[in-house]
Amino acid sequence: MSTLVIKDLHVEIEGKEILKGVDLTINTNEIHAIMGPNGTGKSTLAQAIMGHPRYKVTSGTITLDGEDVLEMEVDERAKAGIFLAMQYPSEVTGVTNADFLRSAVNAKRDEGDEIPLMKFIRELDTKMETLEMHEDMATRYLNEGFSGGEKKRNEILQLMMLKPQFAVLDEIDSGLDIDALKVVAKGINEMRGEGFGCLIITHYQRLLDYIKPDHVHVMIQGKVVQSGGAELAHKLEAQGYDWLHEELGIEA
Ligand code: ADP
Ligand code: MG
Ligand code: MG
Repeated sequence: MSTLVIKDLHVEIEGKEILKGVDLTINTNEIHAIMGPNGTGKSTLAQAIMGHPRYKVTSGTITLDGEDVLEMEVDERAKAGIFLAMQYPSEVTGVTNADFLRSAVNAKRDEGDEIPLMKFIRELDTKMETLEMHEDMATRYLNEGFSGGEKKRNEILQLMMLKPQFAVLDEIDSGLDIDALKVVAKGINEMRGEGFGCLIITHYQRLLDYIKPDHVHVMIQGKVVQSGGAELAHKLEAQGYDWLHEELGIEA
């Protein structure tokens, strides 16, 4: 088992404190969901875990099996087994999706131990079939002209090919119709298991109808203010966040 531990994490963007002491422990074989109102710091947490340079950690720690993640460069974090699917993936002209994926897979492997091309292609085909992706998605330039739904599926394809220990999925469900949502959930559910832990960030409960989280956390104003099981997500869906504001005495 592996464990990702976030302790009393404080993060600033351009001098403004966004995260005000986040505590979270994620083990492999667990799916966690973070919910919360807009602007509350959910994406900031995702970016801090991945080491985005604009997000400045001012105090607190992130460790992976005791190793200091904050000391690692972005590529080292990926190599250590952490994966981030982004809310707004950018386009990369001149690099096909398959080439990008193969480089990413190889970047995680040791030098001289590159994945054999045929093995890579077979695996890519299988996963694309699972995700009901059109085969030309492999040869198109990365994210160029991809629809919102195609981008999301492609993020899950990356996840399934890279097989990270921990994935942070930030609003992987936003803008998806119900069929795309089910396909995305199918991919994530296929990853479930002993070697994989996941943090799903979502504004809506809908995705969690298809991916049953083991733990649900609510983030408000830069802190995890409540944790529970899947039932917490249902309560939030039904009642919104106001009851929590009241219960915790937070100004909305
Ligand atoms: P969430 O994902 O929960 O909607 P974010 O983490 O995106 O919230 O944002 C938290 C706060 O940080 C918001 O008040 C937002 O305006 C601010 N913020 C986010 N990104 C930036 C940025 N690049 N520069 C300045 N402020 C930012
Ligand atoms: Mg647990
Ligand atoms: Mg966000």
